[in-house]
Amino acid sequence: VIGSEDKLKKMALVDRLTGLYNRHFMIDKLDTYKKNADKKDWLAMIDIDNFKKINDKYGHNCGDYVLVHLGQILTEICEGCNVSRWGGEEFLVMCEGNGTDMQLMETLRKHVAEEKFEYEGQNIPVTITIGVAGYQSNRTIDAWIQEADGKLYEGKNSGKNKVVY
Ligand code: GH3
Ligand code: MG
Ligand code: MG
Repeated sequence: VIGSEDKLKKMALVDRLTGLYNRHFMIDKLDTYKKNADKKDWLAMIDIDNFKKINDKYGHNCGDYVLVHLGQILTEICEGCNVSRWGGEEFLVMCEGNGTDMQLMETLRKHVAEEKFEYEGQNIPVTITIGVAGYQSNRTIDAWIQEADGKLYEGKNSGKNKVVY
């Protein structure tokens, strides 16, 4: 049946919980990226703060809700960028030089910190830490991701709920 193969392909690239693209999609995207790389492009590694505590205190279903709702916020705020669920509670955003400034990540951080995450009548405090790396030529995709990751860890080690550029 025409179309069913496409559907399978799409399923393999989409995260079932959040509906965002998954890591495989993002790796493919980044692999084909180099051809039209631009200095203004940037990558952001986003990680939920103290997510284990959210699961422990409010339950795994609540943790899932937080992931889904954060996915919605990401889709909304990062419109025009490539948004993916990179791992458990990590998201990777890649924005090609389309006029979207990397300061957008500060807007995102603030929005999440102020957003009301409500689950079964309880307010769940959610914050994120973000590492952002601008594109530099002559660097591998892995090194680019590593720079964003390194910045993320700087943010984690200096109090969380922040963006490190
Ligand atoms: P940090 O602020 O340093 O990022 O700490 P953290 O607790 O967020 O990070 P840690 O890596 O210790 O814990 C991540 C947790 O995320 C552990 C894992 O059980 C949970 N997790 C991963 N995937 C899912 C998921 O799909 N649903 C839920 N509910 N939890 C998940
Ligand atoms: Mg993590
Ligand atoms: Mg975390």
